Amino acid sequence: MSRLCRHITFAVLSGWMPLAVAQSAPVAASAEEAAQFSRCMASLKPAAAAAGVNAATFERHAMHITPDMSVLPLLNRQPEFSTPLWDYLAMLVDARRVREGRERLVTHADVLRRVQARYGVDPATVVAVWGVESDYGQNFGQRSLQQSLGTLACFGRRQAFFRSELFEVLKIIQRGDVAPAELKGSWAGAFGHTQFMPSTYNRIAVDFDGDGRRDLVGSIPDALASTANYLLRSGWRSGQPWGYEVRLPRGFNVALAGRTQRKPLGQWQAMGIVRVDGKPMGLPADTRAAVLAPTGVNGPAFIVFKNYDAIYSYNAAESYALAIALLANALRGEPGLVQAWPTDDPGLGRDERMELQRLLLARGHDIGKVDGMLGRASREAISREQARLGWPQDGRAGTKLLKALREGR
Ligand code: CA
Repeated sequence: MSRLCRHITFAVLSGWMPLAVAQSAPVAASAEEAAQFSRCMASLKPAAAAAGVNAATFERHAMHITPDMSVLPLLNRQPEFSTPLWDYLAMLVDARRVREGRERLVTHADVLRRVQARYGVDPATVVAVWGVESDYGQNFGQRSLQQSLGTLACFGRRQAFFRSELFEVLKIIQRGDVAPAELKGSWAGAFGHTQFMPSTYNRIAVDFDGDGRRDLVGSIPDALASTANYLLRSGWRSGQPWGYEVRLPRGFNVALAGRTQRKPLGQWQAMGIVRVDGKPMGLPADTRAAVLAPTGVNGPAFIVFKNYDAIYSYNAAESYALAIALLANALRGEPGLVQAWPTDDPGLGRDERMELQRLLLARGHDIGKVDGMLGRASREAISREQARLGWPQDGRAGTKLLKALREGR
């Protein structure tokens, strides 16, 4: 999957990019741009045919696309501010996602058992990916894939990449896997329960409910099995853990940490690295392992194995992989982290963010609707409250501010 697109999906889901911006209304092309677009699409016919899109499909589903120029600013958008890891994790692994994930484990227990038998990936991991990718199917994105990908295929700085994705989505339509009207997703083309890009879809998706279609929009069994297939193809080892929280020895050289700096497990143990719960690692001493200390030696540290890399490959972002791993642990009923993140002001889950927004509204801040996504208006309101309290104004929503507003300070 493209690093760019995974990253951007994450940005939208995490609220780093305000949803109001990410899902803004389509913007029509000027007459000149529309003419340029028509010429561009016509010029793509030979390449589409070479990629396996037949002429009738291209004519019917590509030649009548209206470009949506609102996707272009999103392609070039940079994050407005950097979000601490503990804030990402507080939102992606919050009480609601754990509760709903446990419900999904029960509701889909039979499918998940069969998925595990076929692909070797345990139910908690599959459901954790589902929960982080699309909030268990509750957030697919709302843009027409054909329209977004068509626009990005003809304008902007990554046309070759998006042309190829446009052809892949046309092949999904051509095969009859998903109806064209149901192809809605992020502006960059990730869609469905698993938020696969079209090329990933065509490579990885499986028909698990046996209706002859690989439908990652309408079929939860297809989506869960396809997630497991993705992890299996990324090197998943059945029965192995993704990793463990560990205690680092005093004086540990943090430069040795990092997902790509692998050593045999035995070497890490010889340095004095142990699980925080004191249990044995339960893997051979020659198992390849890496140590993560994402916020330095004063925060939680982890030892990670091959399955962490498989999870990482789904998103190519360390914070995202950690969210899936820790959500999977929570879904299994395992205790949370022993070592706290190095902050005296922990991040908020979505329900707490909504409570904070309600408190801001009650104080007269015009922040729009309560949705748990802290966009520009919410952050500005937070800054004004921070100023009133005499605190540094960083616009960040944390536990301290929620507590102050709850107490009517
Ligand atoms: Ca199916």
